[in-house]
Amino acid sequence: MKLIDGKKISEQLLGEIKLSVENRLKNNLKIPHLAAILVGDDGASKTYVNSKIKACKSVGFKSSLYSYKVSISEIELISQIKKVNEDKDIDGFIVQLPLPGHIDQDKILNEVDPYKDVDGFHPNNYGKMTLGVDTFLPATPAGIIELIKRTKIQTEGKKCLVIGRSQIVGRPISILLSQNKTFGNSTVTVAHSRSVDLKKLCLESDIIISAIGIPEFIKGDMIKEGSSIIDVGITRVKDHTSSKGYKIVGDVDLKSVSSKAGFVTPVPGGVGPMTISMLLKNTLKACEIAD
Ligand code: NAD
Repeated sequence: MKLIDGKKISEQLLGEIKLSVENRLKNNLKIPHLAAILVGDDGASKTYVNSKIKACKSVGFKSSLYSYKVSISEIELISQIKKVNEDKDIDGFIVQLPLPGHIDQDKILNEVDPYKDVDGFHPNNYGKMTLGVDTFLPATPAGIIELIKRTKIQTEGKKCLVIGRSQIVGRPISILLSQNKTFGNSTVTVAHSRSVDLKKLCLESDIIISAIGIPEFIKGDMIKEGSSIIDVGITRVKDHTSSKGYKIVGDVDLKSVSSKAGFVTPVPGGVGPMTISMLLKNTLKACEIAD
């Protein structure tokens, strides 16, 4: 089994982005600026946003954080988004998900200016992605494609099983892998909570992308010899030995798949870091489009 070092590949990508920022500086071009909108004080969301801001600093981007109380109304949040849309200095921004239950997530994502929608969740960008037209691809699926590209995992003609059908991971990665593109052309099956005989589907697959959020769900006896396993799952599990009181666990039981799998992405250090670098890549793209 070969572990795919997502952290290292992400650092390479960040290095490339930093170089582009330095070139922009030399040419008196604008420095990319990413903003994040955070509602409430969910620990995991705060951690993700902080990692994004830290990554911005590491490549020389400007960043801004707009934090709002969990009680903010939908109307107020929309009016704040409109201000960010109009702020000429901000090239791209994200609304950290999930939002509190009283706010309609789809309505909010619809308000983001598609040219600043570096998460790729606006229906215009999502539609373009589905059509195979150049656009901002959602960061996690884009990160998975980048990992596959840089590890040279063959996708053409391969049987690929995507487990999970969320709008942010499962659905878009299933679309990208089935498209007629160099790192696509797979025969894709999408499994979800209503699928039957998941083990059979897994055993038939050359590539498994798991995005369900159930710790160590995928075991060695479920996978095909030599298959590539991309673990998107991130679950916080109580851990008294850690100073944080928890540890991060993926969907894949790494120990049990290790003797059979070809490639596996670890958690942490696999898909997670790629998500952040692809978000920054999208922000650079937004800035270049606005030049
Ligand atoms: P989600 O939480 O919205 O939905 C989970 C999906 O899993 C659903 O489509 C459901 O049908 C499916 N599912 C649940 N139980 C199942 C079962 N027993 N068998 C088959 N399918 C089942 O999905 P999400 O938002 O895509 O998140 C999935 C996981 O990925 C979570 O752990 C999340 O934290 C993680 N995640 C990681 C990143 C990253 O950057 N690495 C990004 C986004 C999400």
